[in-house]
Amino acid sequence: MTRYTALPGFQDVLPEDQPYWEHIRDRARDLAARFGFERIDVPLLEVATLFQRGVGEGTDIVDKEMYAFADRDGALIALRPEFTAGVVRAYIEHGMHVRPQPVKLYTIGPIFRHERPQAGRYRQHTQFNVEILGEADPAADLEVMLLAWHLFDDLGFRDLSFQVNSTGDPKCKPAYIQVLVDYYRQHMDEIDEDCKRRLERAPLRVLDCKAEQCQPVIANAPKITDYLCPECAAHFAQLRQYLDDLDKPYTLNHRLVRGLDYYTRTVFEVWAQGIGAQAAVCGGGRYDGLAEMLGGPPTPGVGFGLGIDRNVLTMKVQGLSVPPLPVPRVMVLHLGEAARRQAVQVTDSLRSAGIDVWLAFGQRGLKSQLREAGKRNISYTVILAEDELKRGMAAVRDMAASSQTDVPLAELEQWLNEHLNQR
Ligand SMILES: [Zn+2]
Ligand SMILES: [Zn+2]
Repeated sequence: MTRYTALPGFQDVLPEDQPYWEHIRDRARDLAARFGFERIDVPLLEVATLFQRGVGEGTDIVDKEMYAFADRDGALIALRPEFTAGVVRAYIEHGMHVRPQPVKLYTIGPIFRHERPQAGRYRQHTQFNVEILGEADPAADLEVMLLAWHLFDDLGFRDLSFQVNSTGDPKCKPAYIQVLVDYYRQHMDEIDEDCKRRLERAPLRVLDCKAEQCQPVIANAPKITDYLCPECAAHFAQLRQYLDDLDKPYTLNHRLVRGLDYYTRTVFEVWAQGIGAQAAVCGGGRYDGLAEMLGGPPTPGVGFGLGIDRNVLTMKVQGLSVPPLPVPRVMVLHLGEAARRQAVQVTDSLRSAGIDVWLAFGQRGLKSQLREAGKRNISYTVILAEDELKRGMAAVRDMAASSQTDVPLAELEQWLNEHLNQR
């Protein structure tokens, strides 16, 4: 028989990890709502060309990592490799440009990329994603950055800082790319094969090459901030002014371009004390041309995506604590046929009264049932036995104190409520 395992790069999130997931999702939802963001959910599957056009052919995400395939009708569809293209598609499709602008949206869910499996990188990973659509003001850039900041601060991440850059717009970016390509043409024998390929297809990406041999070439490369048009320069200066006013630490990172074609002007990352060194915990940027690229009205936009999987790992490594999920603290035990039937009724009425209860299953001795209660960290066991039932009583055992009290069945709910609240 085949022994089934999860696909490489896919993971099960087991019950013991759920408190981390639930806590991050909970804090994210809460903060987003407090910043005035509304939730949207978009499908896992879209027409593949949405991402080819939106994210861009020539990007790793589309060329190497996107799960694209023909469905049973022969349509070429793709599992979403990121959120923004789908959210902007929904904004256009539902005519959200007639709503009061900007429209502030967030979503949480899985995205899919066929990446090389490695620690902390999954082919299905869950993102918290935030977008402000219909606003060009750099204060909107600041707002999404601050939302990310507050979330990490809330979760207990330390040494937070921003990395920022501007990637210009269609007015100034092409001229810079030409300067960059010309510079690289003079250093072709110093760079790796990947960068030679990037130069043809996605030249900005040479700047975030990690290969050792490319570092000296990157270090001396022309900087885009020296080539911004006056409008882009003013936009970027305003954003940095806000960051200065707020005393938020940030580094102007000329190498920060991020992997997607649609970015214009602001790109940013949030860095935190990660696993060992400082590391990016989330990234995003502005994409003013994307809506038009997808056939919609001109609509500026800015947002970020935050991978929950990787941040769960970081939180565990750093020993950051999360609140436990609620579990029943009362267990109903029973001895004998009549008591078992009574136990089902008692359990049901306690649950109806809002008391969380674990019901013992099977026909076992008291010792075995108490042992189970001990393993489940139960505070009080309600023991139903024939003799007590005849008197209309249950024996309630305080597990920590190993003491037992007889409580009339009619007063059980009140007794438990009083004692559970005292703890
Ligand atoms: Zn390189
Ligand atoms: Zn510009």
